[in-house]
Amino acid sequence: MPVVHDVAVIGAGPAGLSAALNLVRAKRTVLLVDANRPRNAATLRSHGFLTRDGISPLELRKLGRAEVEGYDEATVVQAVVDLVAPDGDAWRLHGTWRGAEVDARARTVVVATGLREEFPALPMLRAFYGTAVHSCVECDAYDKAGEPLAFICETDDVVERALLIGTWTDDLIVYTNGVAEIDDAGHARLAAAGIVVDERVVEDLEGDRSGMTGVRLVDGHVEPRSGGFVRPTWHADLDWLQVDTPDPRGTLDRDASGLLVVDRAGRTSVPGLYAVGDVTPPGPEQLIVAAGHGAVTAAAVHRDLVGGLTDLRDAVQ
Ligand SMILES: Cc1cc2nc3c(=O)[nH]c(=O)nc-3n(C[C@H](O)[C@H](O)[C@H](O)COP(=O)(O)OP(=O)(O)OC[C@H]3O[C@@H](n4cnc5c(N)ncnc54)[C@H](O)[C@@H]3O)c2cc1C
Repeated sequence: MPVVHDVAVIGAGPAGLSAALNLVRAKRTVLLVDANRPRNAATLRSHGFLTRDGISPLELRKLGRAEVEGYDEATVVQAVVDLVAPDGDAWRLHGTWRGAEVDARARTVVVATGLREEFPALPMLRAFYGTAVHSCVECDAYDKAGEPLAFICETDDVVERALLIGTWTDDLIVYTNGVAEIDDAGHARLAAAGIVVDERVVEDLEGDRSGMTGVRLVDGHVEPRSGGFVRPTWHADLDWLQVDTPDPRGTLDRDASGLLVVDRAGRTSVPGLYAVGDVTPPGPEQLIVAAGHGAVTAAAVHRDLVGGLTDLRDAVQ
């Protein structure tokens, strides 16, 4: 008979690693499967993780992975998972890596696969993303304080986000790229905060290897800017998660953005299926939040596997 792991954790970012670490320490057998494509690889330094402020995000992953791999209860595999589906009273997991297949079973599954980002279509944006241009205000605004910044945003939350960024600098221009709409009240709030709005179409960012120097509009105007923020749209790619509908275990709830709806302990609407980190609402999307979420969910998974601990279950809800 093939091994049935207690838990399959999919994704080895901070959420999955933290869930895996706490689960192996609960003596649970854990299969941790990861495609090794971290979204934050675009940046050289990550901030705000207590005791690791300024660490390279790849180094943080490496440290976390080594800690998990140090336990006999952990099996860590590199693969892109392309199927997770109910299989009797357990779950079947399938993945591939360079032609090799992973086929496994687990009693429970923790989804920790994070998000995919899509950006406004500016050719040079990727080149500056993670160094001069960032998406996470909480993570990176401190290091941009007081600079002449751009905020490129095509979505409806433009005013709120701009007001937030404006608390770190008094020289902020919001570029809607002719897409995001700002009503009169929004314009008034931004003006009151000293934030300039430019609703013209942006052609590209300007700069070179030494950094970003400006924002170029389609009419040729170039506004000097040393960096700033962009609002990507975030997507949870979960086509591989094939929870049949109707399934005797229940249907899988996702919110309007496609994120997996969970309770405070990371339980989805389907028993035995958990989700942690960025793939769940409501954020904030930060390393330490994802890691903390992983630890909470590990406790819930362990208790649910023991069963009948309703008093403890309530304690983490
Ligand atoms: C450019 C950038 C800079 C950032 N800077 C900071 C910062 O300074 N401070 C901070 O606190 N936060 C920062 N963040 C946010 C932080 O990185 C995320 O909030 C955090 O990594 C989320 O953790 P996670 O474990 O949920 O997902 P991720 O870290 O995204 O990990 C998900 C993992 O799942 C894997 N995966 C996805 N799909 C599959 C699949 N089908 N099969 C197998 N594996 C799969 C991926 O390869 C990846 O390894 C930054 C984000 C970005 C994009």
